[in-house]
Amino acid sequence: MDIVAKIKAKATEYRQYTAECLAEMVKIPSVSCEEEAVVLKIKELLENAGVRNVRIDGLGNLIARVGNGPKILAIDAHIDTVDTGDESQWDTPPFSGLIKDGWVHGRGTVDQEGGAASMIAAARILTEMNYDGDYSVYFTFTVMEEDCDGMCWEYLINEENLKPDFAVITEPTNLGLYRGHRGRMEMELWYKGLSAHGSAPERGRNVIYSGSKVALKIEELNERLKTDEFLGKGTIAPTLFRTVSPSLCAIPDQARMHIDRRLTWGETKESAVGELEAICGDDVTIEVPEYDRPGYKGTVYKIEKYFPTWKIEENHPLVQAGKKTYKSLFNETPRIDKWTFSTNGVSICGRHKIPCIGFGPGNEVYAHAPNEKVPVEHLEKAAAFYALLPFILAADETG
Ligand SMILES: [Zn+2]
Repeated sequence: MDIVAKIKAKATEYRQYTAECLAEMVKIPSVSCEEEAVVLKIKELLENAGVRNVRIDGLGNLIARVGNGPKILAIDAHIDTVDTGDESQWDTPPFSGLIKDGWVHGRGTVDQEGGAASMIAAARILTEMNYDGDYSVYFTFTVMEEDCDGMCWEYLINEENLKPDFAVITEPTNLGLYRGHRGRMEMELWYKGLSAHGSAPERGRNVIYSGSKVALKIEELNERLKTDEFLGKGTIAPTLFRTVSPSLCAIPDQARMHIDRRLTWGETKESAVGELEAICGDDVTIEVPEYDRPGYKGTVYKIEKYFPTWKIEENHPLVQAGKKTYKSLFNETPRIDKWTFSTNGVSICGRHKIPCIGFGPGNEVYAHAPNEKVPVEHLEKAAAFYALLPFILAADETG
């Protein structure tokens, strides 16, 4: 039997197994920084599947390797989830992991333990096939993505020295093949005024006036930010304005404004800060804040809240290999698209320029929403895709 047929048959054989792996994960709540129990569950699932090289790094990421080739392919799923929101809006309890009528239900099924379950099945398939091709295939089950996208990969690349040649992000794509998304960053504007008695405002400098003027200029700036044909438009929005004053009968002398900035192609931290500097007066200090929450192991790994834009071209060999993998398995051409939201690609491709593609089970409209659910069929197909990709990549290179 050829490799494609063998992988397809195994993915089909493990359809229910893959759904059950996902159900096991969903039953364990795993919000960011509290992923330990689900990480240990995935470790157990991988070890029971016969995967031998499984370890947990200093941050709490789980890393499994199959094969020992000279090149590195990383396949990544973040295994933290967002919280449930209002549980009364769920038709089935968010941690049920119910498998019914071809769907797996619950928080994390789409975003994105579904991708993780398909990776476990793919690792099992490659292990059973005694995969020893050109690639070391690293399956990474990463933490804290919902809180600080890409931070887990800064850790893997800089501290664990894991530097893949190619990476696949398994966030939901509804089985489309994705090749980028906008970046983002956060900024804090700190305003400094002068307090005075509220009865004599002319003696002070009121930060509400300077903040308001800047906010109106930000509204205009948003209109003229650039657009990329593939990724869409950059945006900027103030999302918080908080003032401090000695009393309600005094002129406020300090304020903080929080800025949400989405970055399209060609926009960087420097360009975004520069635009704000041009519209803020001397009474404002601009800061890019740092993320410093400790992970479940207690590790603090500070990074700036700057998540660079990334995309790779459609004719890139990795996109082409993804296309060929899809076509070999399903006999049709995949939809090529981009994510609306952000992923670990901001680190892998955005900061480190390692080519990435996205392919994952589930529709992103269910992400972060009540009644999150993923089709079992998607899990099976994604498992087959992840298992076949290293073979296709190697075949492409040998011509
Ligand atoms: Zn996600």
